Amino acid sequence: MDYIPKIRFEADKNLLYMDDIPISLHCHYFNCGLINAIEAIDYFDGIDIYIHEAAKCFYEYFKRILVVDDEISSIEKALKRAEDIYRFMGYGRIDLSKLITGEGIATSDSSYFVVGWLAIYGKRDKPVCHLTRGFIKAVLATIFKKDIRDFNVIEIQCMISNAQNCKFKVSRI
Ligand SMILES: [Zn+2]
Repeated sequence: MDYIPKIRFEADKNLLYMDDIPISLHCHYFNCGLINAIEAIDYFDGIDIYIHEAAKCFYEYFKRILVVDDEISSIEKALKRAEDIYRFMGYGRIDLSKLITGEGIATSDSSYFVVGWLAIYGKRDKPVCHLTRGFIKAVLATIFKKDIRDFNVIEIQCMISNAQNCKFKVSRI
């Protein structure tokens, strides 16, 4: 890993920061329980909203530290930094290197959401790495200076269903 975010804790205010942005930490019971509850709603697409809101949160962070400029001189370097951030945040290991044009396939061979879901609910047929879809949208929106709605990210296979890795198909809208 080349990029390690800066962590700061203000004990008197009980606030935790990553690269000067306040963050909170949740366990897999919270995160997977939230997904389980949202998926149970059948009168609107809650997961679509969840992905969009995740993308908005990541975008607010990324536009400060992931912009291709003098410090990050290429799209390849920005994608690599995004991989490092994803790993640092504990979401797992992801390969974004095939998204150099803003489209293509991203793969992950280590997923926090798969491990968490397995520990609570067990295997299932549907993919579970919804937050990663929002993460990828925010990465590409930042790097290519687009809106998060300009990218469609579908998880076409997931380790929660015994796939070798999680695979995300990315296209521009
Ligand atoms: Zn997955």
